[in-house]
Amino acid sequence: MIAVLEKSCTLKQKANIVRFVEGAGFRVQVSEQADVSLVGVVGEGAATLADQLAQLPGVKEIRPVAPPYPLVSRDHHPEATRVKITSVTIGGSAIVVIAGPCSVESREQIMTTARAVESAGANMLRGGAFKPRSSPYSYQGMGEAGLELLAEAREATGLQVVTEVVAPDDVALVSRYADVLQIGARNMQNFRLLSAVGEQPVPVLLKRGLMATVEELLLAAEYVVAAGNPRVILCERGIRTFETATRNTLDLCAIPVLREKTHLPVIVDPSHAAGRREIVPALARAGIAVGADGLIVEVHPEPEEAVSDGRQSLTLDAFAQMMTEIKAVAGSVGRTMTARAGKPAHV
Ligand code: PEP
Ligand code: MN
Repeated sequence: MIAVLEKSCTLKQKANIVRFVEGAGFRVQVSEQADVSLVGVVGEGAATLADQLAQLPGVKEIRPVAPPYPLVSRDHHPEATRVKITSVTIGGSAIVVIAGPCSVESREQIMTTARAVESAGANMLRGGAFKPRSSPYSYQGMGEAGLELLAEAREATGLQVVTEVVAPDDVALVSRYADVLQIGARNMQNFRLLSAVGEQPVPVLLKRGLMATVEELLLAAEYVVAAGNPRVILCERGIRTFETATRNTLDLCAIPVLREKTHLPVIVDPSHAAGRREIVPALARAGIAVGADGLIVEVHPEPEEAVSDGRQSLTLDAFAQMMTEIKAVAGSVGRTMTARAGKPAHV
């Protein structure tokens, strides 16, 4: 934060301003630009002094310093970015719903899910072929065979596919199949991976880390854009807090905050926040109500048989029911639902 001083500011007033800032525990950097004096207030939480500082004699105005993520900041790019993925656009007035299993498990599983979510109104298919698991003994994914099944499901349904890439060395392979590359929460600060997905053209879905602040999420997005890929979609998927009643705590505040700070589209993942299917639809409705541009939701034809995240996966019927509910919420906040390929928009 910078205090711009009046031209008429006296030496005594200036000394008083410096004393006030230092007395509050912050460092001061005084500089002179042309005939104006600037007092930089340095330190964590400096912005909390803004109101008091603005009222000191000799202070003309308080300016926030530019955010450390110039490319993704709204400051230099006030209009919202729309990420176009063939027939689907994320970031416009229409909500986009991405649905599918946590992991791709078999042809039958992914085909059944893809057909059902498409007929319920989903716009894209999700499914992990490379899984970042907390335990080395948990299911790690089908690898390339899973990517081939996703491509088959796309062929059969017209749904574009979102799938995760976990390592820089896999980016070339996964981007041959994926329409959107997902960077998982555990990899949000894998800076080599962020740069690697930034150096290729497939859009990126960047999930917020379990312990990441909004600023850290935006800095991670800045890595991707700075490396050359402007097509980034952010995802709030719940953060780790003291609360244990849910798998994670869905940070709904982050959605309007991100709206203010960045021009990038933002979606919500209610599944990884909830951890159990019963409360997924409520979080999905809330996400749309606070302004998300879309949802990514886990759905499985037989959740109790799923190799990963079955407890939080919606059944096919529950997903269809959730879609009708979010349509109503979308309408009430002035949004529409993205039309199914070749069909007119509903709501
Ligand atoms: C997932 O999408 O299945 C996943 C692993 O998500 P996250 O990285 O948010 O935990
Ligand atoms: Mn999952």
